[in-house]
Amino acid sequence: MTDILCTTVQRRLANRTISIQIKGCLFASVDILQGYYEGTTIKDACKAGCPNYKKKWSCPPYSKPFPKISSPYLSACLLCFSTKMRFYSDIKNTYLAVKAANVTLKSLIERCARHIEDYTAGYALLSGSCRLCKPCRCKSGLPCQHPDKMRYSMEATYLNVQQMCLDFLDHRLLWYENKRLPEYTSVVSLILHNRHIEYNNLTNLIDEVFIE
Ligand code: SF4
Repeated sequence: MTDILCTTVQRRLANRTISIQIKGCLFASVDILQGYYEGTTIKDACKAGCPNYKKKWSCPPYSKPFPKISSPYLSACLLCFSTKMRFYSDIKNTYLAVKAANVTLKSLIERCARHIEDYTAGYALLSGSCRLCKPCRCKSGLPCQHPDKMRYSMEATYLNVQQMCLDFLDHRLLWYENKRLPEYTSVVSLILHNRHIEYNNLTNLIDEVFIE
């Protein structure tokens, strides 16, 4: 079993204060992650069910497969941020409540992932499709506006993120389904790198983002 960083932080937002559970783990070798690559299965699922398929440069079929993206890197760091939906109970529309929670979590995990990416000179896989331009220039048949800043999501590289979270973080991802609010919502990121980091480095890097 991989060691797990697990901590809870309070985050004061403009209209509420939420608790965020942060889980993370470090991989000395990315080899173990290759077993979570499910290229054909996940690409087929994206094609069948995702409105972003062929609409964003960060998404399938234009995204790159995990074995290709990870090949220059030796190590990795997996992060998962989650918050209970009870903090959003004042938002009566359940879809909007989950969306609001996810916007906050995605923004925070992206800042942490890019901070760790900078520290390690690594490469981050973020949570969700690229949102740097609205709409993505892919829709107009134009090249990516920020190829240096654009990052793929873990799913877009065809990783089984649910299974990774279960196996390495003892955390189950819950989904908004049938208009029913999940108990909590989560976002996940993976940072690939070649720099040796310890758990205390990881904690410090996350803290630096949260105290900004
Ligand atoms: S940077 Fe802009 S054009 Fe490139 S993938 Fe992201 S949203 Fe699309």
